[in-house]
Formats: sequence, C-alpha cells, structure tokens
Amino acid sequence: MNIILFGPPGAGKGTQAHRLVHDFGMVQLSTGDILRQAVKEGTEVGKIAGELMKAGKLIPDDLMIRILGERLDKPDTKNGVIFDGFPRTKPQVEALDKLLAERHSKLDCVIEIKVDENALVKRIVGRYVCAQCGAGYHDEFKRPHKEGVCDICGSTEFKRRPDDNEEAVRARLVEYHEKTAPILPVYEARGIVAYVDGMLPMGDVATKIAEILKEKDAKPISA
Ligand code: AMP
Repeated sequence: MNIILFGPPGAGKGTQAHRLVHDFGMVQLSTGDILRQAVKEGTEVGKIAGELMKAGKLIPDDLMIRILGERLDKPDTKNGVIFDGFPRTKPQVEALDKLLAERHSKLDCVIEIKVDENALVKRIVGRYVCAQCGAGYHDEFKRPHKEGVCDICGSTEFKRRPDDNEEAVRARLVEYHEKTAPILPVYEARGIVAYVDGMLPMGDVATKIAEILKEKDAKPISA
C-alpha cells in the first residue's frame, strides 16, 4: 500500500510516518530527509538544496522528481511507501503517478493531517531532536524528564533544523499555500483522501491513521 501523508509543515507528518514504519512495516520516504542528508554529505544536490531549504523555498521539480525516481528504484519500496513531503506541486503529482505506474504500482490513499495554522509556528520553532537517537522534544510541550539529557538514550547533545526558525517557517507556509495545498483537490476528485485531526494528541492521531489504513486492508506487523 502506498500512502501520502499530507499537511503543512509542522502538521506531524514525520512523526506519524515513523510510527507507521514501526507498526505497519512500511518504508518512510521523506524527501526532506533525503535532502538534509545530501546537504550533510556536500553532494551536488546538497549544494543546490541547502540555501533554498534554509530560506524555506521549494527545490525545483525536475530535481525532486529525479531524486524520487532513484529512491523508488530501491527494492525496499516494493512493500509500500509512506510519502512524507512529496508531492508538493502539481508537476510532482503527475510525476508520482507516472513513476508508480512504471513500477506497476499505484497510490492507494492520501491522509490529510488537518491543523490549526496559528499553532504551527510555535510548534515548529520550539522543536528539536536528540543528536544521537533522533528522539523528538519541544521547548514548551515536551522537555526531557531530566533537563539537557535525552530520555531515550541519555545523550546530552541535541540539534535543531536550520529551517525551523520563524522567518523560514513563514516562508515554508507561503510555499505550502501557493503550491502544495492546491494539489489536495486533485486527489479529492479521485476519492482517495481521508482526514485526521492533527490537533489531537500524537498517540490519538496515530490511532486514527491506523484505523484508516486497516479499513483499506493494511496489515499491522503484529497481526
Ligand atoms: P520537510 O522535511 O518535508 O519539511 O522539507 C524540508 C525542505 O526540503 C522544504 O522546505 C523544501 O525546501 C525541501 N523539500 C522537501 N521535499 C520537497 C519537495 N517534494 N519539493 C520541493 N522541495 C522539497
């Protein structure tokens, strides 16, 4: 089963995708993660993407589509993919259809995580992760039990995304409204969109998403 987690930055797509990997054994395909890795490694793609990402701007479609095609060629995607952060534009929607069809596959479901946008900037600007294990924290909503020490692995090093500052977040929201939100009606016309309330606690959002997937016959790993 192939699904898209859809929603603005900070809706919780990455967090929910992590859970689905764990619960359903699907593969998370986060184009943001792929780009951040490229920036870290200093590749050609990383050089193009780095500045645009810092400014909260989208990376050109042709580059993103090439990256996605290469990722879909890896064998781990055969059993189902959670698209997290792709597609973000209409050309990317068309490209995804084509890339999946070429691989004798298709999109099964788009899950929109609906959020109150006034809450987003605060949500994003306060978030950080453990530099060792990636556990997520927030300045206001989820501090480690012991200040400065990761609850999961005990590390004392944490990091923030360079594009999680207020200016970049506002730019990311503008890009979302101009280019990404208009693609939802394309999928709605196909009758494959389901909606969840992303303002619920994280665990409840995960439960709702799991219910949607089970209705569509996805099998949890433990079943
Ligand atoms: P994300 O981790 O999904 O929030 O993505 C972080 C940043 O990576 C975005 O603000 C864009 O600059 C870039 N990016 C990720 N996915 C895409 C995409 N599908 N199309 C264009 N730019 C993207």
